[in-house]
Amino acid sequence: MEVEKQVRVRSAPSPTGDPHLGTAYNALFNYVFARAHQGKFILRIEDTDRERSTAESETRIISSLKWLGLQWDEGPDVGGPYGPYRQSERSETYREHAQKLIDSGHAYRCFCTKERLAEVRIEREKAKLTPGYDGFCRTLTPETIQDNLNRGLPFVVRLKIPETGATRFQDQLRGEIVFENSQLQDQVLLKADGFPTYHLANVVDDHLMKISHVIRAEEWISSTPLHALLYEAFGWEPPEFIHLPLLRNLDKSKMSKRKNPVSITYYQRQGFLPETLLNFLALQGWSMPNDEEIFSIDDMIQNFTLDRISLGGPVFDLKKLLRFNGIYIRKLNSAELRQRLVESSIQRQIARMNDAQYLERAALLFQERLKSLSDFDSAAHFLFTGAQAYNIRELVPKGKNLNQTKSALFAAMEAFRPVKDWTTTSLEQKSRDFCEEIKWSTNEFFMFLRIIITGSTQSPPLFETMAVLGKEECIARLQDGLAALQLS
Ligand code: GLU
Repeated sequence: MEVEKQVRVRSAPSPTGDPHLGTAYNALFNYVFARAHQGKFILRIEDTDRERSTAESETRIISSLKWLGLQWDEGPDVGGPYGPYRQSERSETYREHAQKLIDSGHAYRCFCTKERLAEVRIEREKAKLTPGYDGFCRTLTPETIQDNLNRGLPFVVRLKIPETGATRFQDQLRGEIVFENSQLQDQVLLKADGFPTYHLANVVDDHLMKISHVIRAEEWISSTPLHALLYEAFGWEPPEFIHLPLLRNLDKSKMSKRKNPVSITYYQRQGFLPETLLNFLALQGWSMPNDEEIFSIDDMIQNFTLDRISLGGPVFDLKKLLRFNGIYIRKLNSAELRQRLVESSIQRQIARMNDAQYLERAALLFQERLKSLSDFDSAAHFLFTGAQAYNIRELVPKGKNLNQTKSALFAAMEAFRPVKDWTTTSLEQKSRDFCEEIKWSTNEFFMFLRIIITGSTQSPPLFETMAVLGKEECIARLQDGLAALQLS
């Protein structure tokens, strides 16, 4: 593909959880594309989902991307000429644009209540129609609309999708993609609270931020006809669209946390080097002209062309990633290796040891068991280190198989994640309830949990230990244990 216009690309993560491997993958391709074309790489935070977005998630996403070295030219933390780069700070812009579409007849106010929408859903299901809105408010008279507004009725703004015909767009990797308009629905652009939906905010920002190429995950292809219609409605030229191949689990299914660790934090705490992870992510969608598998991001930038993106896509094989990491570790000289060890584990151990409050709680856990002070060194080691080394044979309880153990551990992780009160009593109660749910005896499950949390079959009382370690570390260890089972 000829690239003529100034290249401006963006990563647009939604800060609604752990920094995801998919975010790193997407940022990598955008970063490389920008560098390969002397363009700009922009980070935009898409936090329009007010219920699920958190500042903590944004901070973690930003620090994970920085850890990977994917530095952006414009973004919420560094500013730039087209800011603000956080969508929650741009509400007024979206409202103005929604109004423009209403004025030009491309969008309309919809006053339908939740109850009515629920009825429509049931009716359409019965009639075997595609799910969606029935267009009731498309034809409201100006008088009714004014009357509803005067009465202060809440409304959303919907896009008026043409009833017939088809919408087409070019995907730079897949060619022309066509959607029948009858399959699309009058999407909500502005919610009743005045906040935009992803579609409106995304298109308005891509235009105002002069994004030349939208490089994003395959799962957004089905939203693109809607975006194409929005560009048309605004009278704007759309950007080029490039939908990257999916990241896949070992069994080729779309990557999911049930089958693969997906949080960047996992890879960071496990001591993967950022350059290994980037190289490996690059290989999930792209290959070097000489098919060399080990390459740097600079090599990728030098050699990058879209036609080497392969849609078939390999699978994300953790064992192979570990092998790659070994290769990268052996490339380091002694000073570099020391530095990496300091950054990845030694710093955190020192910080924990210097935390008087933490150390005191740790000491109390062991007071009953110490014959001499020196016992503390080896017994309490697990309270200061991060990822533990697991013995898989020890990890799978007798009478359970690997799959049952994996499912139980995944479920445990999901069960503990929402716990707010991370205290001995509430953790014990939660664990007992959980045993009933999954029908494991408390003996079985508590021992299993003990090994995951402490790396050993012997430890101080489990729930007190978990309370001292803290929620973040415990959840991370559950994830570590799950990955160890997945790797086995
Ligand atoms: N906020 C969307 C996401 O989280 C961005 C999708 C896009 O790049 O358009 O993936």
